[in-house]
Amino acid sequence: MKDRQKKSKGLKILIVFLILLVFAGGAFALYMYTTPQISLQGDKVMEVTMKNGYEEPGATASFAFHDISSHIDIDSQVDDSCVGSYKVIYTVHYLEKTATAERTVNVVDKEPPEMTLLKGDHLTVFASEVFEDPGVKAIDDSDGDVTWNVKAKGYVDMYNKGDYEIEYKVSDSYGNEAIAYRTVTVKGEPNKLKKGVIYLTFDDGPSNKVTKKILKTLEKYKVPATFFVIDYGDDPKKIALMQRALDDGCAIGVHGYSHDYSKIYKSPEAFMENVTKLHDKLLEDLGYDAFAMRFPGGSSNTVSISYCKGIMTDLVKLVQKEGYMYNDWNVDSTDASANSVPAKRIIASVKAGCDPEKYNIILMHDSDAKETTAEALPAIIKWAKKEGYEFRAMTPACPTYHHKVNN
Ligand code: ZN
Repeated sequence: MKDRQKKSKGLKILIVFLILLVFAGGAFALYMYTTPQISLQGDKVMEVTMKNGYEEPGATASFAFHDISSHIDIDSQVDDSCVGSYKVIYTVHYLEKTATAERTVNVVDKEPPEMTLLKGDHLTVFASEVFEDPGVKAIDDSDGDVTWNVKAKGYVDMYNKGDYEIEYKVSDSYGNEAIAYRTVTVKGEPNKLKKGVIYLTFDDGPSNKVTKKILKTLEKYKVPATFFVIDYGDDPKKIALMQRALDDGCAIGVHGYSHDYSKIYKSPEAFMENVTKLHDKLLEDLGYDAFAMRFPGGSSNTVSISYCKGIMTDLVKLVQKEGYMYNDWNVDSTDASANSVPAKRIIASVKAGCDPEKYNIILMHDSDAKETTAEALPAIIKWAKKEGYEFRAMTPACPTYHHKVNN
């Protein structure tokens, strides 16, 4: 009996030993072949809005069904005050083993700049006064002061009472756009003129020959003018001439990139594209935001009937809606009536057409062929000054003279 008991005790020890061995082996194998696991809470790629605070969603970690989340180290580089793509690294060390996981956090700017209309969104001014836009201030959460980037559109006719709207637009570098509007009410009746006013206007330039001569005359007599230009290629001489005109206090208006009636009066879209193309080119080459425009052939032209019936009726509204002030003329120098119209005839036409009781908008040309216009100009200026006329360049608030639309 004693022997059998001894035997069975030995067997039990052996079994327990074997079981322990299996467990130890199993545990060893488990250790060898198991790695810590990290799982991110929330998305692997997250988007947060700037300055809105990044809240760490955290992660969990396990090692062979054992929760080791408390061992996770989080290394976050997220700076929510700055737009950018940031990494958050999660590391867990456990029993000499390491695992890492990574999250990408994109901080984005969706906030447009904040615009403040200086002196408020409604201004009242009296007719004939000089209107000076008090401007706006634009501050962006990521770009800072972006006032320099504000584009203003719209004009105020100080000689016609009514409500005018000015639109201000600004974008930050992430394309978030803010728009603000100001209404300007022009009140009262414009002053009666004490003396005549002349707006000299030159179409179809710039020309290295003729515009240069005209500028010399304007500089000599300290008289400004308005140039309605067409495409000038990339001629640096022509760009320099226009810059010189601006420096002299002249205005530059858009006549159109192309002057080809068959192309520009084909459709309202084609026309506006032709205007915008030149406007943007002037902005790029001279930093000048042209506000004035003149229709090739004038708004009264009938040549456009052959290309698009009724187009002028639409265009006169459309250009103003796009923020342009269009101006025809009420004094024709007749310099376009033939090639090389004698200077004497140009001078006589201007003298006959000007009236001290009105705003005289004189049509002249400064394309290469118009040498006699340049020749006539000194005599015109001398005569007008003697008669007491005042010369002005067009401004966004200057009087407009519109022809009767015939198409
Ligand atoms: Zn023209």
